[in-house]
Amino acid sequence: APFSSDETAHPGRLVIISGPSGAGKSTVVKQLLQRCEVPLQLSVSATTREPRPGETHGKEYFFLSHDEFATRRQTGDFLECKEVFSMGHWYGTLADQVATGLNAGKWVILEIDVQGALAVLDDPRYRPLTIFVHPGSMDELERRLRNRGTESESSLTARLETAAAEMQCLSRYQYEIINESVDNAVTEICQILKDQRKKSPCS
Ligand code: 5GP
Repeated sequence: APFSSDETAHPGRLVIISGPSGAGKSTVVKQLLQRCEVPLQLSVSATTREPRPGETHGKEYFFLSHDEFATRRQTGDFLECKEVFSMGHWYGTLADQVATGLNAGKWVILEIDVQGALAVLDDPRYRPLTIFVHPGSMDELERRLRNRGTESESSLTARLETAAAEMQCLSRYQYEIINESVDNAVTEICQILKDQRKKSPCS
């Protein structure tokens, strides 16, 4: 059958995964990409923050200078971009990353903050699936951020403040995942994606 089980029957879709920094989102997304049977693609964002140890340009992010970021912003390269923390760091979704994935029939994962998610939600061109991942409580979040040991005290404070504000937007998301165990979180999200893919093959 010409139009049976190929990507034509399953066009791409945007999947937004948000949640407080330190909620373990990146780990969950990494394992989701490895484990879930849905054809996924991670959209690699651009940022002006410094790479953390172990992060590679083009893999976790495209690490840009402020000037490079501003130029690409002016050119209209971003689907959305935001100054996420009150420390002068910019983050943005590159439109070509998303277009390439969607055109290939992929479910493109945007791991972006709440402000960015709202911008995409308000754009009628996209009907993203939206998932909010959080660690259950602010105490648990602080514990995880401290354990990660990658943030200065001021960055930590800023991230906790932002997290408290982000939690207020939980109701704008379709799904809430409490990330107590990475394994369970990945299984739950994968199941959501598989169910959605079955449900709306023609959307
Ligand atoms: P981190 O510095 O910990 O990698 O990310 C900080 C925050 O920026 C996270 O909440 C992450 O989801 C968000 N973020 C990463 N990339 C983007 C992006 O392209 N756009 C927006 N709006 N937020 C992003």
